[in-house]
Amino acid sequence: MEDALIRMENVEKWYAGFHALKNINLTVRRGEKIVLCGPSGSGKSTLIRCINHLETIKSGRIVVDGTALTDSQKAVDTVRREVGMVFQQFNLFPHKTVLENCMLAPMRVRKASKAEAEATARKYLERVRIGNQADKYPAQLSGGQQQRVAIARALCMEPKAMLFDEPTSALDPEMVKEVLDTMIGLARDGMTMICVTHEMGFARQVADRVIFMADGEIVEENDPETFFHNPGHARTRAFLGEILAHH
Ligand code: ADP
Repeated sequence: MEDALIRMENVEKWYAGFHALKNINLTVRRGEKIVLCGPSGSGKSTLIRCINHLETIKSGRIVVDGTALTDSQKAVDTVRREVGMVFQQFNLFPHKTVLENCMLAPMRVRKASKAEAEATARKYLERVRIGNQADKYPAQLSGGQQQRVAIARALCMEPKAMLFDEPTSALDPEMVKEVLDTMIGLARDGMTMICVTHEMGFARQVADRVIFMADGEIVEENDPETFFHNPGHARTRAFLGEILAHH
């Protein structure tokens, strides 16, 4: 089995005339936890959205667990089965219960039976410590609880990697910790993760590597200790100064 789970090689992404990703090279090892940070508009969200083909790239190569991401629907489906994604907005179906939200994709995509899908859903709802809310509708839950459901829903597909796109930035401050704790638990269990977040405490605690982006480029990447205490680039230092002033 190849050590690299996700590989991006010379990836270029344009939105019409705007160059959003510039020569991105990134290899994520199995079990590795990466925190992606940088100013707003630097391309973080675009980068992770390319990994499960929510955005198409202009050139370069993205390989996930041996599958090269081409425009073929088969490749896209394969990669999306392997890579779970959690967004800033929870995107739960409002007219379905928590349990039903978690059962949908495994039944549709993995062709799980109803009983299997329900057992899996209950397992992961327990794992995010929300098993007792299974029969509620999303609107009956707090934002933090809804985000934990969104994490459980992604886990129900038993992904090999999880991508998080600012999962706590739409939450009220008192709910941030419960979601970060859930993510820390996942990290401890060995999940491969790429997290776009400004939660630098989380980065310190779980990241194997912190990557700093600016203007569509990876400017710097390092272990958290070096990244926070001895950043190599002026832009990283400026960013850290701003972030730390706000947190
Ligand atoms: P970040 O996640 O670092 O805030 P994004 O990846 O969301 O950055 O965006 C990077 C840049 O690409 C921004 O300048 C943004 O305005 C632009 N962009 C993002 N999505 C689109 C889109 N769908 N169409 C045009 N421009 C976009």
